[in-house]
Amino acid sequence: MVARAPSCDDEFDAGSLSCDEALRRILAQVAVVEGCEQVPVRSALGRILAAPLDSPFDVPAHTNSAMDGYALATGELPTNGTVALKVIGVAFAGRPFKGRLGHGEAVRIMTGAVLPEGADLVVMQEHAVATTDQVMIDGSHKRGQNVRAAGEDLKRGQRVLDRGRRLTPADLGVIASLGLGEVSVRRRVRVAYFSTGDELRSLGEQLGPGEIFDSNRYTLHAMLTRQDAEIIDLGVVRDRRADVEHAFRDAAARADVVISSGGVSVGEADYIKEVLGAIGEVQFWKVAMKPGRPLAFGRLGQARFFGLPGNPVSVMVTFYQFVRPALVKMSGATEDVTRTLQARTATRLKKRPGRFEFQRGILREGRDGVLEVTPTGDQGSGILYSMSKADCFILLDVESSGVEAGVMVTVQPFQGLI
Ligand code: AMP
Ligand code: MG
Repeated sequence: MVARAPSCDDEFDAGSLSCDEALRRILAQVAVVEGCEQVPVRSALGRILAAPLDSPFDVPAHTNSAMDGYALATGELPTNGTVALKVIGVAFAGRPFKGRLGHGEAVRIMTGAVLPEGADLVVMQEHAVATTDQVMIDGSHKRGQNVRAAGEDLKRGQRVLDRGRRLTPADLGVIASLGLGEVSVRRRVRVAYFSTGDELRSLGEQLGPGEIFDSNRYTLHAMLTRQDAEIIDLGVVRDRRADVEHAFRDAAARADVVISSGGVSVGEADYIKEVLGAIGEVQFWKVAMKPGRPLAFGRLGQARFFGLPGNPVSVMVTFYQFVRPALVKMSGATEDVTRTLQARTATRLKKRPGRFEFQRGILREGRDGVLEVTPTGDQGSGILYSMSKADCFILLDVESSGVEAGVMVTVQPFQGLI
């Protein structure tokens, strides 16, 4: 029998870090990038707020009507029966009624119109009977009803949005309601990436014997776009030491983060770790996870370097578990990057102890209303279509030796990740 060297088929590997430890070390090595810019509100979606935002005034600025109807004073309400009030004018949104209400008077009012002086409630028009210049109401109304108080949305001086917030559509509306045309956001993290491999062809090229299309550069481009990174695509780099070294130097000079895929295993032409060690610094290169065990992390000058594995699923798993949290931290965002849920597994999940596994699953509501997850089938790290079909990762602990159907498991929904 041939003596067996350690390989990626082994479950236990003393030289591997746990996922938690790998992530802890990565996050300890990255800091928020310097620099802010002023951008128009329309361009601020998904950007990270650089300074906290306080309200410069009350929103709404004026007490106004929440309904179409009649504005009047509580004192006019009859204790029983009905009362007829004289309608002395109309208040439109943006065109206030200028006078003041006297005894026995009401003002016709539209939604959003400033509440006239002397009025403190609005009776909706469906609860009133109007004649030519009078309106009949009964006593079933209360002070303040159908009235939106000044400052009820935001008070002057109130903290509206914290620094580090990733701006949402609602935030942009709130910023506009404060009259602000621009906001100060952090600069985007610059990320340069490339694929390595003699077998890779870019889209539009002809495939020769044994060649495949490069898919990693396209998933990386998409994942980085979703992370709102500034993207520098350095193409495909051939498996030659000099080419890899050139790509490293070029990328490191232009980016905060450099990402490669492929060439981190132990094949003859896997130069990533060697070159990283020669011109930069290797921090670690093995994580006890599946898929994705060979993973290089280190520095290239000022840039942080991630050498992701070549297998397409491994690229995505390692990106979401390690690169994304690092990019979020570097972007200055303060959001939680580790949102998980509990779901019941619909089928048995196969696993051997020794590595943390990220299986691909599909989430559905079970018949009894409980969230249920079904694995996508073959979990091989080259089966990219499994990622396409899936909408979550199923997280299985290092020690787990599989899970029976019906048991609750932890899942990480892609929504929020991507
Ligand atoms: P490597 O880590 O370079 O040994 O690559 C592992 C496997 O992933 C091999 O089957 C490669 O052909 C494949 N692979 C590497 N890079 C890519 C890529 N950019 N797109 C698609 N498959 C790739
Ligand atoms: Mg390769």
